[in-house]
Amino acid sequence: MSGRQAVADAPRIAYFSMEIALRDSIPTYAGGLGVLAGDTVRAAADLGLSMVAVTLLHREGYFFQTLDANGVQSEAPAGWNPADALEALPARATVPVEGRTVALRAWRLVVTGVTGRRVPVLFLDADLPDNAPWDRTLTHRLYGGDARYRICQEVVLGMGGVRMLRALGHADIARFHMNEGHAAFLTLELIAEHMAAQGRAKPEMADVRAARERCVFTTHTAVPAGHDRYPMDLVERVLGPRDEFGMPDVFCCEGELNLTYLALNLSRYVNGVAKKHGEIARHQFARYTIDSITNGVHVPTWVSPPFAALFDRHIAGWREDSFSLRYALGIPRGEVWDAHCQAKAALIDHVNRVTNAGFSTEALTLGFARRMTPYKRPDLLFWDLPRLAAIGRQAGGLQVAFAGKAHPGDGAGKELIRKVFGAANALKGDVRVVFLPNYDMALGGLLTAGVDVWLNTPQAPLEASGTSGMKAAVNGVPSLSVLDGWWIEGCIDGVTGWAIGANDRNHAMGEPPDHVADADQLYARLEHDIVPLFTNGRQRFTDVMRHAVALNGSFFNAQRMLQQYVLKAYF
Ligand SMILES: *Cc1c(COP(=O)(O)O)cnc(C)c1O
Repeated sequence: MSGRQAVADAPRIAYFSMEIALRDSIPTYAGGLGVLAGDTVRAAADLGLSMVAVTLLHREGYFFQTLDANGVQSEAPAGWNPADALEALPARATVPVEGRTVALRAWRLVVTGVTGRRVPVLFLDADLPDNAPWDRTLTHRLYGGDARYRICQEVVLGMGGVRMLRALGHADIARFHMNEGHAAFLTLELIAEHMAAQGRAKPEMADVRAARERCVFTTHTAVPAGHDRYPMDLVERVLGPRDEFGMPDVFCCEGELNLTYLALNLSRYVNGVAKKHGEIARHQFARYTIDSITNGVHVPTWVSPPFAALFDRHIAGWREDSFSLRYALGIPRGEVWDAHCQAKAALIDHVNRVTNAGFSTEALTLGFARRMTPYKRPDLLFWDLPRLAAIGRQAGGLQVAFAGKAHPGDGAGKELIRKVFGAANALKGDVRVVFLPNYDMALGGLLTAGVDVWLNTPQAPLEASGTSGMKAAVNGVPSLSVLDGWWIEGCIDGVTGWAIGANDRNHAMGEPPDHVADADQLYARLEHDIVPLFTNGRQRFTDVMRHAVALNGSFFNAQRMLQQYVLKAYF
């Protein structure tokens, strides 16, 4: 065996994620976690890292969102045909669920990096004729169903994933990376494998240590309710009695299983997804050593065609080496602005094709797109409608494009979409507001590249990282954002964008949010900084755009992120 191809043929890292965003035609993702997984795989392929990714097939996708005239969301299965996009593999594995044996197969998509190297992604599928009718549905819906459905899905992902890797001949995987706690049951399978290899009938600490030596865990949420927890009687119904349940170094918590703790207990390396999030996680899980690796986006995926052409003219090798975006500082301002105008025209065309909002390419355009849920505060911009209307008049035109899905069970998130529709109506004549349905990767690309300023107003410190602002940055679009998540690291005020909230207001968990102060600052930054710069200071505005690419695009990218995982987590 010689050279890189031999290494790539025998994956050393198995990356597990409940969701993954590879293409728009494969709707098996709900949001940032899946986009990060997709960008990680793409960066691994670019760098020639030997990796295999494991996820579930999700035949009905997340969901297809439609919105009525009042912003009431309805959900339909996001139909797709796996055979159109993926290759069916003959291998089979089984996994025990509630005393039954569930058969699994896998579908494969090979992701090719910018240098031609490849990373396979395996989609596990339980919809086989041998399985009981309910078991066949286990790989249908992402984040659907009740606790029983969810835990069974997680058994399929974690235990089924390891077994499928073995069935496909991947015997020597060095690291198992859990992208969030959903895959934590893989640790039980690794303990069982080691125990069997040692000829033991009961697990011992040596088996736990051997499993731990191979696992890496990335936690993604700063919201305490974001961690999956199940009552122990449900766990035992699904998995049967297991000796690990009585081992405090494996299952820590009386009466319940918290998948985050299972992953924490069984990982040699644990990280949060931004420096601040690492701090929060260390506070939440004080007994554990938790590092941070700040997220990044895959540059060749998220750069719009006009900016790709611009970089092709000015930055040799930018696709292969995301660090080289630092040379964007030398691109003439006029060319940056022209490329932006093209990306903006593409967005405005789309808006005017799918809505009757009558957007103009001249007006200052803000964008806001992410999961619709209360801590993201999509309504903060509408705190004071007369003041926002006045900003619209001051700017000589202001328009805002929204997008985002609310989880079917998140009533408060759905209510927020209706609020945006209500504000859009109330602002007619002063500020144009649209809500584009069915947020997906393609719409994310159009929006982050095509607006003038990317807006983010989470309730600090609940945004673990956020990545859409990084997509904007690689397209020269500066952020106006609450100092939280990645923006604490990426914001140089007035240079790469603008901050809402001071960094010294050191948000602690549980501190009541100050919506009034945040909204006031949001308006003040528009009134005093952004509108004047956009309308009268085009040169300086373009400087901010260049800094967004050079200072933030060159760092908050998935190639840098993955290199940190290699150095700190994998080896
Ligand atoms: C980038 C992206 C996200 C994540 O955005 P955040 O800023 O992290 O909330 C979610 N959904 C889609 C479709 C995306 O492209």
